[in-house]
Amino acid sequence: MAENPNPNTGSKERKVKGKVEIDIQKCKGCELCTAACKEQALSLSEGINIKGYRYIIANNEVCTGCVNCALVCPDAVITVYRTHPKKKPEDVTPTDIREQLQSLVVPVK
Ligand code: SF4
Ligand code: SF4
Repeated sequence: MAENPNPNTGSKERKVKGKVEIDIQKCKGCELCTAACKEQALSLSEGINIKGYRYIIANNEVCTGCVNCALVCPDAVITVYRTHPKKKPEDVTPTDIREQLQSLVVPVK
């Protein structure tokens, strides 16, 4: 039996849900985050921000909290919140993620 390519559209409820907040006035509309989002939860606005850039809008209904968008954003304007039914909401910031990644990096010999 073929698997559902997008688990968020299936009948099974997600265990972890995400919520993305974007500092739209600092976004420059480079769309690195939209390319990194497998759920296609991010899109460019029609309007522009104070710098004259179209900014990113998040559809939190499909966000899984994977934090890919926050990792690739060069300006660190994305904050991802994760919720788990059995755990307290957890705030994951780009700084937290970078620190986690740095602790995993093994030096090349
Ligand atoms: S990667 Fe960051 S700066 Fe670029 S469009 Fe996304 S939120 Fe905006
Ligand atoms: S946290 Fe993951 S699913 Fe949610 S908007 Fe960012 S890249 Fe997409």
